[in-house]
Amino acid sequence: MNTPGNAGTDLSTSRRLVLKVGSALLAQDDGQLRRDWLDALARDVADLRSSGVDVMIVSSGAIAVGRRLLGLARGPRNRVLRLDESQAAAATGQVQLAHAWQEVLGRYKVSVAQILMTTDDTEDRRRHLNARNTISTLLRLGVVPVINENDTVATEEIRFGDNDRLAARVAQMMGADTCVILSDIDGLYTADPTRDPAATHIARVDAITPEIEAMAGDTAGDDGSGGMITKIEAARVALQAGCRLAISDGRALHPLKRLLEGERATWFMPQGEPHTARKSWIAGSLKPVGTIVVDDGAAGALARGKSLLPAGVVKVIGAFERGDPVIVAGADGVEIARGLIAYDSADARRILGRQSDEIEGILGYRGREEMIHRDDLVES
Ligand code: GLU
Repeated sequence: MNTPGNAGTDLSTSRRLVLKVGSALLAQDDGQLRRDWLDALARDVADLRSSGVDVMIVSSGAIAVGRRLLGLARGPRNRVLRLDESQAAAATGQVQLAHAWQEVLGRYKVSVAQILMTTDDTEDRRRHLNARNTISTLLRLGVVPVINENDTVATEEIRFGDNDRLAARVAQMMGADTCVILSDIDGLYTADPTRDPAATHIARVDAITPEIEAMAGDTAGDDGSGGMITKIEAARVALQAGCRLAISDGRALHPLKRLLEGERATWFMPQGEPHTARKSWIAGSLKPVGTIVVDDGAAGALARGKSLLPAGVVKVIGAFERGDPVIVAGADGVEIARGLIAYDSADARRILGRQSDEIEGILGYRGREEMIHRDDLVES
C-alpha cells in the first residue's frame, strides 16, 4: 500500500500537509516581507493544491512585520519587546501578513482563510471539534487556511517556536500525514554545525530517543527561530499522531518544490498512520462521560463504518458537553463503539429518534447531521 507511513520521505505521497513558515524566512531584519520568496512559495503551494493535496499554512511573522509598522523596529541593540508590545505588534502585523498571503496565493487563484488560534484550542475537545470542522470545510472548498497563534489573547509569554508546536497540533487535529517545518537549516545534526565541524547531518529519525534530544541541544535561535528543541517537541506530537515531519531549509526560492524533488532534510517518521493514531486516541485515552443507546438499524450502520445519526438513537444517558467522549451501546446495553459527540446531552435528548433535517426546527440552529461523525467514532 502506498501510504506515507511506508512510502518514506517522498513528499509526493502526501495527501494532507501542514506547512510551517517562520518569521525569519518571511520577513527581512527590518520587518519588510520577502515578496519574491513568498511569491515562489505560493506557486509551490498552488501546485501542490492542484495535484490534490490539502495544504494548511502555519505562518509566523506577525510580530516581525508589526513592530516595524508600529515604529518598534529592532534597534541596534535588538531590543526585546514587552509582552504587551509584542501583542500590539502581532495585532498590527497580522493584518498585513494575512493580506500578503491572500495576495500571493490569489495570483494562483487560491483562496485563503485566516485562522488565529491557541494551542488550547487544539486541546480543548469542544474547541477542537469546532476548529476541526471549520478547517475541514475550508479544505473541502479548496481554500488554504493560513493559521497563526492568536497572540492578542495568548496569556503566556509569546515565545518563538510556539508555532512549531502549533503546526504539529494542527497536523494532529486535522489528521495530516505530513508536517513540513521550513527553517534556516536543513535539519538535525549530530551536533551544532556552526560550532562543531565534525557534525553530520541526520536524514531520517524513526524514534525520538534521549540521544536525538541531546543532539538538538539548546540551539534556541534568534528572532523567528525556536531552535531545534521546539522542532523536536513538534516532531514528537506529530509522530504520536501518525504524521511524518520534515525539517527543511526554506531559505532559497521554491522551498517546497525543492523538498518535493528530494532536497536534503531531516524526516521524522511515524510508526502508524494518522487515521489509526486518531482512532486509538478516541478509543484509549479518553474517559467516556455518557452513553448513547442505539437501535439495531443504527448498530448495523455503525458496523458498516457509517456515522451515527440522531434517528437511530433511542436513549441518552449522562450529562455531557459537545465534543465529549461517549460510549455507544446497542439496545441490549452492550458497548459497541466510542466516539466524540457533536451535541451536548440536553440537545442530544431533544433530537434523538428524529430525522437530521428536523434538527434545525427543534434546536433553533443548524447543527451537524450526525450525532457522531464516523471520523470521531471507533468500534469497540
Ligand atoms: N505568532 C508569532 C508571530 O506571528 C510567532 C511565533 C513563532 O514564531 O513561533 O509573530
